[in-house]
Amino acid sequence: MRAPLLAALLLAACATPRAAPLASEAEIAAFEAAPLGPMASGADWNAPFAPFNIIDNIYYVGPAGVSSFLIRTPDGLILIDGGLAQSAPIIIANIAALGFDIRDVKYLLASHAHFDHAGGLARLQRASGATFVASAADRAPFEAGRFPYGPSKDDRFAPLRVDRVVADGETLSLGGVTLTAHLTPGHTPGCTSWSLPITGADGAAHTAFIHCSATTGGQSVAPESYPGMVADYRTTFARTRTISADVFLAAHGNFFDLAGKRARQIAGDANAFVDPDALQRFNAQMEAAFNAELARQQAAAASPSQ
Ligand SMILES: [Zn+2]
Repeated sequence: MRAPLLAALLLAACATPRAAPLASEAEIAAFEAAPLGPMASGADWNAPFAPFNIIDNIYYVGPAGVSSFLIRTPDGLILIDGGLAQSAPIIIANIAALGFDIRDVKYLLASHAHFDHAGGLARLQRASGATFVASAADRAPFEAGRFPYGPSKDDRFAPLRVDRVVADGETLSLGGVTLTAHLTPGHTPGCTSWSLPITGADGAAHTAFIHCSATTGGQSVAPESYPGMVADYRTTFARTRTISADVFLAAHGNFFDLAGKRARQIAGDANAFVDPDALQRFNAQMEAAFNAELARQQAAAASPSQ
C-alpha cells in the first residue's frame, strides 16, 4: 500500500503549481544586515533623508539616493519601490515618522527588478501584507531575487511574490485615487513608470509622473542584453515624448533633483516640485546618453582588438 500512496502523493505534488518561494524572516534579516555594496555606498544611496510631503497626497519616504514614494488615499496607502534591502527599515521608520503605518499599505508597486529598487520589497511585503503589483516582464527576477544580467547580476535580494500583473495603460485604484501604469522598457524589460492626477496647494490640477529609468546603467546594449532591447529603448523615448506631466519624480533622487527641490520647498516655494519641462528634459537627456552609449559600444564591438 505504501508504494501506490507515495506515487499518488508525488503525482499530486507535481500537479499542483508551485508557488513562488517567499523569503523567510531570516533570509530578509540577513540581506538587511549585510554591508552596502560599492555601488550603493559610493553613491550615498542609503543615506538618510527626512521624509516629507512632496505635493498633495504624495510623500517621499526613501533614503537620499534610491526613491520610495508613498501615496495616501482615504482607503489606505500605496507604496512605490523598496530601495535596497538595507533601505526597508528606513522606509518603514519614515512612514511612521509621517504618522502613517506600514500595515495600512494596501498596494506595493515597483519601478523595476534591480536590487537597488527591489531589495527592500520582500520586507515591505511581509510588514504590510500588501498586494504586490508588477509588470509581466520583470516578474521572474522579482520572484527569483536576482536580475539575470548587467552590473547588478550578482546583487541578490530577497525574493517576493508578484500578486498581480499590470499591462501598459492599466490602472490601479484605491480610495478614489487612480494610478496609471506606463510600461517604459529598456533599462529592464518590464520597467514600469506610474502617473496620477494631483492637486497643488493653490488648487491647480497637476499630473505626477514617477519615472522608472531609461539609463543604460552599465548594461550591454550592443550586443543587446535581451532581444529587442534597443527597440524597447526607442519606443520608450518616443512614448515618453507624448506624455504630459508637470511633477516629475524618478527612481533615483539625482534624476529629479530631490535635494534641490526639497531645499526650495523648505525655503517657502510650495510648488517646488512643479516643473512642466522636467519630464521632457530628462527624456531628451536619457535619449542622447543612450544614443552615445550605443554608438560607443557598437564601435567597440566593430574593433574588438582595441
Ligand atoms: Zn536599475
